[in-house]
This record gives sequence, structure tokens and C-alpha cells, in this order.
Amino acid sequence: MGQIFDTDVFVVGGGPAGLATAIAARQHGLRVMVADSAQPPIDKACGEGLMPDSLEVLGRLGVSLEQCETGSFQGITFIGHGASVAAEFPQGRGLGIRRVLLHELMVEQAQWCGVEMLWGAHVSAIREDAVLVDGRAISCRWIVGADGQSSHVRDWAGLSAGSGRAQRIGLRQHFQVRPWSDYVEIHWGRHGQAYVTPVGNNEVCVALISRPKFSSFREGLREFPELAGRLQDAGSTTRARGSLSISRTLKRVCHGNVALVGEASGSVDAITGEGMALAFRQALALAPALANGDLSSYAAAHSKINSLPEFMSRSMLLMDRSHWLRRRSLRALSREPGLFARMLAVHVGEMRLRDFGASGLLNLGWQLLRA
Ligand SMILES: Cc1cc2nc3c(=O)[nH]c(=O)nc-3n(C[C@H](O)[C@H](O)[C@H](O)COP(=O)(O)OP(=O)(O)OC[C@H]3O[C@@H](n4cnc5c(N)ncnc54)[C@H](O)[C@@H]3O)c2cc1C
Repeated sequence: MGQIFDTDVFVVGGGPAGLATAIAARQHGLRVMVADSAQPPIDKACGEGLMPDSLEVLGRLGVSLEQCETGSFQGITFIGHGASVAAEFPQGRGLGIRRVLLHELMVEQAQWCGVEMLWGAHVSAIREDAVLVDGRAISCRWIVGADGQSSHVRDWAGLSAGSGRAQRIGLRQHFQVRPWSDYVEIHWGRHGQAYVTPVGNNEVCVALISRPKFSSFREGLREFPELAGRLQDAGSTTRARGSLSISRTLKRVCHGNVALVGEASGSVDAITGEGMALAFRQALALAPALANGDLSSYAAAHSKINSLPEFMSRSMLLMDRSHWLRRRSLRALSREPGLFARMLAVHVGEMRLRDFGASGLLNLGWQLLRA
């Protein structure tokens, strides 16, 4: 007779990735437990924007944002070096939602699906067929590490080898002001970017992402005078909250009965706005692999899911690091907005990179030379 486990799947971490995995695994009929050392709703510094592709995968997990307060946007605008360029999503709109609200909705859905959740519960070790939670061993068939950027599960499972580690600092704050744009605005400055996402009828989320650490949110805003002007008379509705934005690619995301998901499994720079969509897609790929008892399909799917956002992240970081490239790119794109629209279509998965292809790259190169 096979071993009887307390649960089929034990998920370490109840952030977006852990909850998405738990919900998806329940959809495949597995018994699931999630433990998080924090209490819900869990907040985290985040740009709080979900692009149409992110909303689509969230919908597949049964999470709908229809009944709660959100802000809506039709595309992305780049602003900087005296230039600005906007593009609309080819299909659908994006939504901005307060991180705590999204967490609440995901917890509700996990509860409804029958996920057993342990809050304020710290995981201190994993064994071959068990997890140690607040000193108590809980046996399980599968262990999922969804414990974020500084994942211990990743270390314990010997999965930390990887490459391309770039680190920036994120700061986020909310302001009470009617959103002035139907786009998520990305302002490009000398040391980083500020991006503005509408999260309600009368509230915006502003995230600053920079290489050097700004001493305060207000100091960081000085780098973006146009945005600072917009927020001058707006009261803040939250305190500034910080978080690291790390770009990391792992060599492997599974070992034995352990799989990593979300930021524990590698991450792209925050500026891509794709972090949560990646986590949701990975969760949807991991659940059937767990149900079928074979993690190899997840390893392959993970690398496919991450490849485009990783490419986009590297391109954006190049623009961030080089004043010359940033200035030229912004000018070139504002001169050729159709090119920006096609890049956004690739970014949200509505156009294949291959279809953007050589002609798109040549056109971009030509515009860069002219700018
Ligand atoms: C500045 C900034 C802006 C961003 N903007 C966006 C955006 O606009 N759109 C977007 O899609 N993404 C954005 N992201 C990325 C997004 O925030 C992440 O992709 C997302 O939080 C990843 O979720 P996760 O569940 O993997 O990790 P986390 O949200 O970090 O969750 C990990 C959880 O594990 C728990 N945990 C850790 N260790 C243990 C342990 N030993 N025992 C128990 N629990 C444990 C923690 O308490 C935590 O709740 C942004 C990120 C940053 C830094």
C-alpha cells in the first residue's frame, strides 16, 4: 500500500504565486495546504497593474475583479527626454487593483476551492516527504516553493544555481487623485522609472524603480518633475513601501518532489509589469504536472513561459542603463508609434516575436539611428 500523506501538495508561501498554484491544483482534484508566515491580506510593494493577458489567466483560476474597485487602462505610455509615445492593447483593457484587494480575492477563491490555509505559519525546513511548519511535520507528496524572491525552499532543494541577477529597488505609494490618463504611464528618468497605474476612480498607485536607493519617495519623485507636478496637491493614502526588484533566471525549477513557482522560480524586472501573470501561468502549468505525477512537463513549460518576459526585461534594463539608448529609443518610438504598438502587442502575447521579426528590428534600428 502506498504512503498516506497529510496532503497531496504543500505550498510554501501564500502570495499570488502560492495561491494561484493552490487553486489550480484543487482544480485538478489534489488536496492542497498553503502556509504563509504573514497574515492576510498580504501587502507588497507593487505597481498593481494587470495587463489583459494577466486578467485572462487570472480568470482561468476563477478570480474575477468585476465586483471590486479597480482602475482601468487601455494601454501604456512612455514619457521622457521631452518625448512621449502611447500604444493601446490590441485587445481588452488592463486593470489596476490594490495589492491587498487582489490578495483578499485570491484567498476567497482558494477557500471556496477547498484549499487548507495556514496563516502566520512559518516553514523552517523541508524533508523528502514532509514540511516543518512551526515545528510540526506535515507529510506531503509534493512540495511547492512559492516563497518569493529570497526563497529558502529554493536553497533547501539545491535549485539556487542560475544566472543574470540584476537588482533594483522599488518604492510604492498611493495618492488620492482622479487618474488623469487612460494609460499606465511609464516615466523614464536618469536613475530609473516611475510608473503610474489607476487603481480606483480617485486613486493612483505610483511605483518608483531605481538603481540607486532614493532616500525617500518624495526625493525619488524629483527625478520626474512632470509627475511630481501632477501629485503636488494630492494627499497620499498609504505610506511608501519598498521591495527589491530582481531579475534572475534559474537553471532548474524542479528537483525530486519539489517545484518552484513565482518569484522563487526566477523573476523579471518589475518594469515589465508581468510578474504576476508569469506566476499565474506557471501555476496553471504546474497543477497538471503535479496531478500527472511528472514534473518534467512543468520544467519545459516554465522555460517557455518565462522566455519572452525575460527578453523584454533585458531590453528595458538596457534602456535603463544607457542614457544614449534611452533618449534615442524614446525619440524613435514617438516618431514611429506604430512600432511601439507592435512591441506592446508582443509584450502582452498578442503578436509573436517572430512576427515582429527582422523588419520590426530593422525599422527600430533605423529609427534609433535617425533619432
Ligand atoms: C516595485 C515592484 C513593482 C511591481 N509591479 C508589478 C506590476 O505592476 N504587475 C505585476 O504583475 N507584477 C509586479 N511586480 C511583481 C510582483 O509583485 C511579483 O511578481 C509577485 O509578488 C510574485 O508573487 P510571489 O507569490 O511569487 O511572491 P510574494 O508575493 O513575495 O509571496 C511570497 C510569500 O511567501 C511567504 N513566505 C516566504 N518565506 C516563507 C516561509 N519560510 N514560511 C512561510 N511563508 C513564507 C511570504 O510571507 C510571502 O507572502 C512588481 C514588483 C515590484 C518589486
